[in-house]
Amino acid sequence: MTDKRSAEVLSKAMKDTVMSLVKKSAGGRTQPAERAWPATGFSEFAAYKELQTQRGAGELFGIENPFFRVHETRAGATTRIGGREVINFASYDYLGLNAHPAVAAAANAAMQRLGTSASASRVVAGERDVHRDLERRIAEVYGVDDAVVYVSGHATNVSAISTLLGPRDLILSDALVHNSVMVGAQLSGATRRSFPHNDLDALERTLAELRGRHQNVLIAVEGLYSMDGDVPDLKRLVQIKTHYGAWLMMDEAHALGVLGASGRGSAEHCGIDGRAVDIWMGTLSKTCAACGGFIAGSKALVDILKCTSAGFVYSVGMPPPIAAAALAALNAMAREPERVARLQANSRLFLERAQAAGLDTGFAQGYAVIGIMIGDSLRAAKLTERLFEAGINALPIIHPAVPMQAARLRFFLSSEHTAAQIETAVAATRRELARLEAEKFGLSKLAAGVLAKKSAGR
Ligand code: PMP
Repeated sequence: MTDKRSAEVLSKAMKDTVMSLVKKSAGGRTQPAERAWPATGFSEFAAYKELQTQRGAGELFGIENPFFRVHETRAGATTRIGGREVINFASYDYLGLNAHPAVAAAANAAMQRLGTSASASRVVAGERDVHRDLERRIAEVYGVDDAVVYVSGHATNVSAISTLLGPRDLILSDALVHNSVMVGAQLSGATRRSFPHNDLDALERTLAELRGRHQNVLIAVEGLYSMDGDVPDLKRLVQIKTHYGAWLMMDEAHALGVLGASGRGSAEHCGIDGRAVDIWMGTLSKTCAACGGFIAGSKALVDILKCTSAGFVYSVGMPPPIAAAALAALNAMAREPERVARLQANSRLFLERAQAAGLDTGFAQGYAVIGIMIGDSLRAAKLTERLFEAGINALPIIHPAVPMQAARLRFFLSSEHTAAQIETAVAATRRELARLEAEKFGLSKLAAGVLAKKSAGR
């Protein structure tokens, strides 16, 4: 080999060695600068694009977005939006306690005495008497040992389910159960199965097939379904869960204050002992006119959650004024059972009138939540708009909250609605639906109006 050639070989060998050292020090990667990894812009996000498409469709059909409306007053049976007083069917304040003077007074007093915040987790920053008083009161309402409150109803389900269940377990939930139950179930790592809405035969078939393969089994249902306004057969659920050695969890978000002669929810409604259900879950944002959620049950259950569930241990305690408001609301519910009676009468009246008017009320059974089934999402949004023009606030529920073509308008009744407000709302819904139907077939707005008037007079 010539000198020149050997110098070339040496130089190449040195280059290779240097390159391999560079590669090694870079963890086997080549030049980091050669490859760019641009982050996805949020405007390119698939969910965002879908949202834009939905909004575009709304704009195309000239429908105003009915969501995120600003209320300029305490939203109850009536509210003020855009400077206009409207009859309101879009509030979960079932017993009108958000406007109860005793609730406001309790929140004010707790704020003066204890401040607006609990500042950190109750484990480290300590408890306030209102926390314990509220938990004892919730346990009394459900006739069980104890309760624990969380700062969010959604986080309550996520935290409790993911703490109690694990990969060797099985979770069986109703197909219409709330998103928070599904998220908790996913996080738990347990095997998950859903059964068709309120189909307890299907639930039993799945249990017969799968029970033996799992350690713990959870059956998760709602006391009153918030999309459809129907209730499960609790007595049969208790039999099933006992037979198959499963835990039964009842989400009472919409049942508390609504079901039972004194508003104490599903146990009172079905005449069962509170201890027959393993896990009572509920929210404080609806009947209780506050915010947050609870789990009520045995001492051991509450102890486990207070000491190990992430949503309690690693999250701030409930603000004292909010805990005091929830406690005062439960006390007001007990002192004034006529509120519950009024709500139940209003719910029956709405259902009766809606059915008599030929409106499709789906599964609704006349317990505070009544959906008027519309089908198409845009049509539901259009009906909301027309009703709003007529002085009625009732919001559409559209996909993905409900299956495609199962859009509806949901009416939430309260003890504070008057019979006249209910009659007005049903008549307007019927009239505006008929008008939309006529417009679909190409009739002029004027002709559609005449037809709608005629049909409303029938
Ligand atoms: N469970 C059910 C059945 C609900 O409807 C809701 C909310 N509407 C939640 C849980 C979550 O409760 P929150 O809004 O109080 O967080």
